[in-house]
Amino acid sequence: MQVRCDCGAFQAELTNFPNHTPGRLMCYCSDCQRYLEKLGRQDLLDAFGGTEVIPVYPSEIRIIKGQEQLVCNQLSPDGLFRWSTRCCNAPVGNIRAKFPWFGILCNAYLAADPDCLERLGPVRSRIYGRDAKGAPPFHISQKIGFKDMLTVLPFLVRGGFGGKSKNSPFFKADNVSPIVPPRLL
Ligand SMILES: [Zn+2]
Ligand SMILES: [Zn+2]
Repeated sequence: MQVRCDCGAFQAELTNFPNHTPGRLMCYCSDCQRYLEKLGRQDLLDAFGGTEVIPVYPSEIRIIKGQEQLVCNQLSPDGLFRWSTRCCNAPVGNIRAKFPWFGILCNAYLAADPDCLERLGPVRSRIYGRDAKGAPPFHISQKIGFKDMLTVLPFLVRGGFGGKSKNSPFFKADNVSPIVPPRLL
C-alpha cells in the first residue's frame, strides 16, 4: 500500500499494511479541527468536524520520493508533529516521539487508491464527540471511551514492545528530533 499527497510529488510505502493497523478511526477533537482550519484544508473535515485517521507504526513507513516537500507543523510547542506537504498543501500524518503511532490522514490513502477505504471496512471508533459540530447521526464517545481504548490497545502494546516507534523516516537518528524544524501554526 502507498500513501501520497494530492499531487503525487510526495509518496511513501507502508511496509506492513493492512496487517498492522487498528483501522479507520475518526477524531472530532478541537485540535484536529483547528489544524485543518489553520492549514486551510477544512474541506477534509467531515460534516461534524471529524478527521479520519488510519494509523500505522512509525517504523513501517518508507518515503519513496518527495521528502523535500515535507512541512512539520505544531499547534503548540509540545504538541504533536503534524506533517503536511509544501507542493499541494496536503496533510500527511501526525506523530509524537517515542509513541508507536503514525496517524495517517485518509486523504493520503485516497490519493493513492480511491477504493482503499471500502476494503478496510467500517470506521471502528469515533472519539472526542464533545468537540463535534452539529448533531451527528452516529455514536461518538465524549472523549476516549473504554471500547475506543480496546480498539487501539493491542496495536499500541505490540508496537511498544516491538520497538515500532523507532526508525521513523520523520525523525532523525535520535528518534526524537523531526527531520524538518517544526513551525508553529
Ligand atoms: Zn503534493
Ligand atoms: Zn484529534
